[in-house]
Amino acid sequence: MQMQLTKIIATVRDDYDPQKVIQLSDAGVDVIRINFTHATPESSASLMKEINKLNAEGRTHLSLLLDTKGPDIRTGMRETPLQVKKNQTFNIFVDLENLTEDSDIFCDYPWILKDVNIGQQVIIDSGLLLVEVKEIAKDHLVVKALNDAEIGSRRHINLPGVKIWLPAMIDKDKTDILFGIKMGIAYVAASFIRTGENVKEIRSFLDENGGDSVKIISKIENKEAIDNLEDIVKYSDGIMIARGDLGIEMPIHELPVYQKKILDMCFVYGKPVIIATELMKSMVTNPFPTRAEVSDVYNSVMMRADAVMLSDETAVGKYPVKAVQYMQKTIAEAEKLTNNKHKDFDIDCTEESEILKKSLGRYALMLADEIHAKMIVVFSASGNLARYLSAFKPNVPVVSFTADEKLHYSLGINYGIFSEKVEKFWSHMTENQEIAVKILKEKKMVKKGDQVILVGKKVYHNSDQPQMRVVRIEE
Ligand code: PEP
Repeated sequence: MQMQLTKIIATVRDDYDPQKVIQLSDAGVDVIRINFTHATPESSASLMKEINKLNAEGRTHLSLLLDTKGPDIRTGMRETPLQVKKNQTFNIFVDLENLTEDSDIFCDYPWILKDVNIGQQVIIDSGLLLVEVKEIAKDHLVVKALNDAEIGSRRHINLPGVKIWLPAMIDKDKTDILFGIKMGIAYVAASFIRTGENVKEIRSFLDENGGDSVKIISKIENKEAIDNLEDIVKYSDGIMIARGDLGIEMPIHELPVYQKKILDMCFVYGKPVIIATELMKSMVTNPFPTRAEVSDVYNSVMMRADAVMLSDETAVGKYPVKAVQYMQKTIAEAEKLTNNKHKDFDIDCTEESEILKKSLGRYALMLADEIHAKMIVVFSASGNLARYLSAFKPNVPVVSFTADEKLHYSLGINYGIFSEKVEKFWSHMTENQEIAVKILKEKKMVKKGDQVILVGKKVYHNSDQPQMRVVRIEE
């Protein structure tokens, strides 16, 4: 059985054929992402139910990730696309009623008039059209096009370097998240997070609405988020390097610098990190990736990302399964050279039991390297032990046993972690060990002679005693 440490996330459309989801899963996908910039609860309910059913039948093990629309800025609807010519001037209005000329564009962010300066550049349609602000009037901007372009409906507007006055969640996000909680999502990927306070707001919203088990992945996609990176990482359960928007908001040649900076900050706080966007972009239309793309995937593994993500490649591409297969093979190749040193990280916690768990996890990884253990098995009631082991970057798979249905899907993006469900946990390691070893043998994850390290606890005089054992598989 192939057990890769680096996880794969695939984006699917809300009208995706469940059979194709099975194929993606068989090719190595761990997490399914649905992008709610385009999807709605009505359009995605049937697919999400289908994925839950496939999981319940044991056909797949896929965590669901709901990517929010977030407080983005967009142009309005147009009946026909606007043909813009270089040096042409046109108006951007913030009130739909004031549009008169065919060349007028609507912007749904009213504060644009206050936030931009004369001479500033505004980016429309993810970089397709660059305009310069020439005049700031009471109800509109006059801008000059810096290139030719065709602009359709509801295109993205980016204001590089501008501090945006928008809430953490728009009403659509709240509706979508409430729906996601009902559908048992494991993750919310929160778009356009700008501060640690944004993350806290979403955390409270989840906790108040029965979504306390849902993990928050903050998408880092603009300069303001970079400026507040440490706070965002601290309060989030994981981070997505959303290179699509980040590459527009920043000069593109600086993108790798920020990618490295975000990865490093995630390692400091032991938080999982996803590298997203354009890893296999050419496979939207081509049956094989470019040399640069496979190198990007390979380097993502070398940089110890927890997960790599496919967007259009799987959502609308012609070769979704092949894209996953190429990604999986490249990861396998890179992982042959994996030699993680299990560097320590900070946790915002002073509880002795957590600190003990963390240290035990780290020593288990070191011991696994020393004795060439086949894998590490953890019994993790809260999931924290498994998360610590993941954050220390294991060199061998870590199988996390849980009796909790929600936890079973909440480790999908974590490096090296494979979740297995049991009916219940026993208060002693020996019983848990017997059940775990039986499952591992049945699933052919271990064979006779393999050494496995077990990490868990036993209850002794009503207190939890952390334990580590080395077991050699017999028969
Ligand atoms: C990105 O910008 O890279 C990203 C993942 O976000 P979205 O696909 O929502 O634009």
